[in-house]
Amino acid sequence: MIYIPLSEIKAKIPDDWFATADQALAEVTVITDLKARAQAINDRDDVWKALRERLAELRKDKCWYCESNDSRSDRPIDHYRPKNTIAECDTHGGYWWLAFSWENFRYCCTFCNSKRVDKEHGTTGGKHDHFPLWTDGLRATFGKCSPYDLEREKPMLLDPCCETDPPLLWFDEDGKPAPHPHLCGAQGTFLYERVTTSITLYHLDHHKIVDRRQQLYQTIKRKLAQAEEKLRRLREHADMTAQQALAEDVRELKEFMAPEQPYSATARCALMALRGSYPVAELVFL
Ligand SMILES: [Zn+2]
Repeated sequence: MIYIPLSEIKAKIPDDWFATADQALAEVTVITDLKARAQAINDRDDVWKALRERLAELRKDKCWYCESNDSRSDRPIDHYRPKNTIAECDTHGGYWWLAFSWENFRYCCTFCNSKRVDKEHGTTGGKHDHFPLWTDGLRATFGKCSPYDLEREKPMLLDPCCETDPPLLWFDEDGKPAPHPHLCGAQGTFLYERVTTSITLYHLDHHKIVDRRQQLYQTIKRKLAQAEEKLRRLREHADMTAQQALAEDVRELKEFMAPEQPYSATARCALMALRGSYPVAELVFL
């Protein structure tokens, strides 16, 4: 998961889009029948699809949830708060009043967005219309809705647009995601359960991305070993050619953590975890 500031999203939206979104919301607001309103919202999907390319540009086509860059994906725009139905609350009818709200849009891949079963590897995921809460009684509804109500909700899904959410995910050497060992607390507590729920519903444990993260981790490990040797030559033999080569290695290692790089959060976890074995990793965080 990668942090996407809301200010960056807003800056990408053309001025005339906001009036279009307001008009679409006004048209669906007068519809009281749930099914008819859901249909009317879906009929106006060109409103959010009009922003797809602009949102994709923000992180070079990467999914904001899983950081994959998969050109085969349909590249949907997910509504962080589902627009028509809530899997965890039959009677709610969805956050339909946020259907055309740019602050509710998250650019993602079909693996994270659509329900999918990976029978071979025993995982199931895909956000679809899920939006579980820690305390379900505090779900915002339109009649009572205000920013205050939304802020009081305790979503169990990590949000890439919330700065403190992406760092809660940790990635191990085997490529598997987990709650951050120092930030999330024990199993059963709020942050730990938010991360495990997000891993399941965004399908962050799908074997394809687990394999890719594992490969990245090994690439970083090899690069660190090379850099460590150059640091040793510089330290023990005053080898100035090693100094220049070391600087190049550090630049390459930093680049793995750049926001536009696939699985940059995994790279960050790998470099942090390997600092004990490869002290040269300290240079990457300077
Ligand atoms: Zn994804």
